[in-house]
Amino acid sequence: MLELSSVTVNYGSEAVISDLDLAIGTRGATITALLGPSGCGKSTLIRAIAGLEPLSSGTITFDGVDLAPIPTHRRDFGVVFQDGQLLPGRSIADNVAYGLRVRRWSKPDIAKRVADLLDLVDLPGLGKRRVAELSGGQQQRVALARALAPRPRLLLLDEPLSALDRQLRDRLALQIAEIIGATGTPTIVVTHDHSEAAMMADRIAVMDGGRIVQDDHPEKLWRAPRSARIAKFIGCTTVVAATISAGVLDSSLGRVRVDLPDGGVRIGLRPEAVIATAIAEGGGGVTGVVRHVASLPEGTRVRLSVADVEVDAVGDPSLRVGDEVSITLDRDRMAIISGADVSSSEPTTSNDRGFDTRGTVGRNA
Ligand code: ADP
Ligand code: MG
Repeated sequence: MLELSSVTVNYGSEAVISDLDLAIGTRGATITALLGPSGCGKSTLIRAIAGLEPLSSGTITFDGVDLAPIPTHRRDFGVVFQDGQLLPGRSIADNVAYGLRVRRWSKPDIAKRVADLLDLVDLPGLGKRRVAELSGGQQQRVALARALAPRPRLLLLDEPLSALDRQLRDRLALQIAEIIGATGTPTIVVTHDHSEAAMMADRIAVMDGGRIVQDDHPEKLWRAPRSARIAKFIGCTTVVAATISAGVLDSSLGRVRVDLPDGGVRIGLRPEAVIATAIAEGGGGVTGVVRHVASLPEGTRVRLSVADVEVDAVGDPSLRVGDEVSITLDRDRMAIISGADVSSSEPTTSNDRGFDTRGTVGRNA
């Protein structure tokens, strides 16, 4: 296990990481995503684990051994940063061999390992090329090969895809997960993008304000975020209050059957969880008015006014602004917020780049 206990990192008088606990298995290729908005302390945490940032208090242990006295180069951790940090004037093979030369591997062993790694990251035989001749995605694969070459006992990836185009990011996310799987290296990958986290990871630790605020299997995180703030960060644009009674959840946006105990909750809705349909004659249920229509590649997205709440929904391409629609909730796509209420440590507005504060919160939330 990699175990962080009460870890605090201060810059000056300000705590960037405060009293953080996190435990990660170190057997096999488990991938943990560290997901959080820009500025929440993700890079600082990675640097602290790598030994590049001293702890102000707390401990980090690996398989029970305190890492504090162990310098970065003796921790046997591989690190890849956002921009890869390759040596630009050198060949790809030189870059991949870097950690092996530092560890004084023999020349033939280095040559063999470099060739194997270039095969693994799908750049076979390209060892002689210069880094500058490669695309951004290829450079990140070289950085990954370099980090994996010395067979690290833990791999730390800090936003390895964020400098790349969206389309390439999705492809490379899966490729990286496969490469990590093939090497069996336990990995922590930092991202501010929840889809990217889900593409790669078996588990997502959500970080906010220097703390881990939720640590769950992705499916659980989507269905049961622990706060409205987390719900919004993972794509819920509407949050409203609801009550559950005898297996029926009732809200201002409709009712659905749920298998949960009676009580008050809040629900988080991403557009896909709300289906808007043109009102049929005499149709009942919850109704709203179309305020905006956008044709996206994946379908039609509408913004509705439902009583005093603005709601994003999916609908039929024939919908027009001003149409009256009835709405249905998709139980399988909605989030039920498990935390009792927004706590004082959760600001309702934020300038953090990663959090979308444009999402609406129902006034009864
Ligand atoms: P993230 O990677 O989640 O975007 P960082 O760990 O880079 O967040 O930064 C967390 C906070 O610490 C930010 O407010 C940032 O401005 C601040 N910070 C980062 N590095 C330093 C530093 N070396 N000195 C002072 N403040 C820093
Ligand atoms: Mg960062």
